[in-house]
Amino acid sequence: MITYQELLKSGENELVSSNISDAELDAWYLLEYLTGMSRAKFFLDRDMEVSDEIKDRYLSLIHMRKEHIPLQHITGTQEFMGFDFFVNENVLVPRQDTECLVENVLPFAHGKKILDMCTGSGCIIISLKKLEETAECTGADISKKALEVAQKNAASNEAEVYFKESDMFEKINGKYDIIVSNPPYIKKDVIKKLSKDVQNEPIIALDGGKDGLVFYKKIVNEAIDYLKLGGYLCLEIGYDQKKDVMDLIKENLQYINTYSKKDLYDNDRIVVTKVGG
Ligand code: GLN
Repeated sequence: MITYQELLKSGENELVSSNISDAELDAWYLLEYLTGMSRAKFFLDRDMEVSDEIKDRYLSLIHMRKEHIPLQHITGTQEFMGFDFFVNENVLVPRQDTECLVENVLPFAHGKKILDMCTGSGCIIISLKKLEETAECTGADISKKALEVAQKNAASNEAEVYFKESDMFEKINGKYDIIVSNPPYIKKDVIKKLSKDVQNEPIIALDGGKDGLVFYKKIVNEAIDYLKLGGYLCLEIGYDQKKDVMDLIKENLQYINTYSKKDLYDNDRIVVTKVGG
């Protein structure tokens, strides 16, 4: 026989042996996900016997995590801006970094028509719609499977957001007040060096081409045609991409008042620019 406490410990040991960095936390989250047990209930019941069924199911979840499947892809959920988002292998897990983008767009989002380019799970545009009285909100993505996830998230969060399958601006019509984007921005060569967890996320959500700038080039050059005069382009960037992205913007004389902001960890994280006269 095995108790809940022993099961948790064996899960943790298994994860440690596979070098999973947050082994203790992940072992707990998987037990919580499987049993629905709160931490308090666990402390009350930890010496109770676990059924064979729970034990087998728990160990198979631990096995998935040992294979470096991201925790959130196993549990199917990630919190972002205080909302729950469903995630699977077709979308990038929403990052805390990206909350910086949402927080900096919110102050001027009231009454605005907004497009989220490369929407993925829809976390950015759904959060904006929930947290501010915006006008029409649209999320675009090349991946049909990602858009299915985004649709599901809009429904579960009761947010009225439209989604469009589009290779960048190909199928986009009309003019927007704000275009936001957290595009794939990792240099192709760097992806191989990232953690195995990240490598199990969809490659098309990460790969920014040889210089990591492929999508910024397209967005910066094409957004002009889809932004109203005085409209804003708001981009998440990698910690080392501020100069590169600002230079791309400078090449386009219609953009004015460009600025960047840092995230909570003091990394450059977003660039905002405006379409001037
Ligand atoms: N916009 C989505 C997010 O921030 C997806 C980003 C991406 O796929 N690169 O999570």
